[in-house]
Amino acid sequence: LPRRQRGLPEKRNIRDVRKVIAVSSAKGGVGKSTIAVNLALAFARHGHRSGLLDTDIFGPSIPTLLNLSGEPRLSANNQLIPLSNYGVKSMSMGYLISESAPVVWRGLMVMKALQQLLHEVDWGGLDILVLDLPPGTGDTQLTITQQIKLDGAVIVSTPQDIALKDAVKGISMFQKVGVPILGMVQNMSVFICPGCGKSTHIFGAEGVMRTCNSHGIALLGDIPLDAKICDDADRGKPTVVVEPESGRGKAFLAIAERI
Ligand code: ADP
Repeated sequence: LPRRQRGLPEKRNIRDVRKVIAVSSAKGGVGKSTIAVNLALAFARHGHRSGLLDTDIFGPSIPTLLNLSGEPRLSANNQLIPLSNYGVKSMSMGYLISESAPVVWRGLMVMKALQQLLHEVDWGGLDILVLDLPPGTGDTQLTITQQIKLDGAVIVSTPQDIALKDAVKGISMFQKVGVPILGMVQNMSVFICPGCGKSTHIFGAEGVMRTCNSHGIALLGDIPLDAKICDDADRGKPTVVVEPESGRGKAFLAIAERI
């Protein structure tokens, strides 16, 4: 049956955007935003008009990662104008609320803010928009996956069993709402000691690959646990911008090529 007859809302496109992909994770702190920002930058480096939408209303991190702040201007027809850095346009709840203001929004207000981020941004023509989803499979994720025509989802996980168990819940959420899974990215699997260069698989080496194999989805890449990635990110200088030719930078660029 068509979605309308099943009582489901019609999915909408994000205006002026050709392709929309969501970056998702089961848990916070696994590197989802780091990967989302580096992917958006990698698409730009590959010559695409790229954008990044931070839909994490309670913990927006894109402003820090892209080294951007300030309030977006409004266009003539009251649309939010994205802020840009490093060749990527971005919009985030972090630009709309001051850092010191407590985010005590509930229910309708959160949903209203989300609607504005999804439908009232003047992207001005993009080839690809990366959506940084909040962690987990809660209301915001469901609203987005049910309302927006997503071309696919990328799932980020660390290799521990407990993270993977939850990642599988994310996989089934996307499958239920008919969003293709583009693949998984394994983050923080191997630690390369900056002193001696020895590599250690702290959480096991193959967890994400096993999950990919058992669910018939692609493994898009593997990003090492690397202090440089963390330092650069926290300074608002993402890896793909500061060292695209390094092993780290190339790993992100290769993932973008597989999408
Ligand atoms: P999430 O969006 O899943 O909550 P973040 O992208 O904000 O996670 O990452 C959480 C923290 O881990 C950040 O400080 C980030 O710089 C760091 N981090 C992410 N990926 C890596 C990595 N591969 N190596 C080292 N630090 C990382």
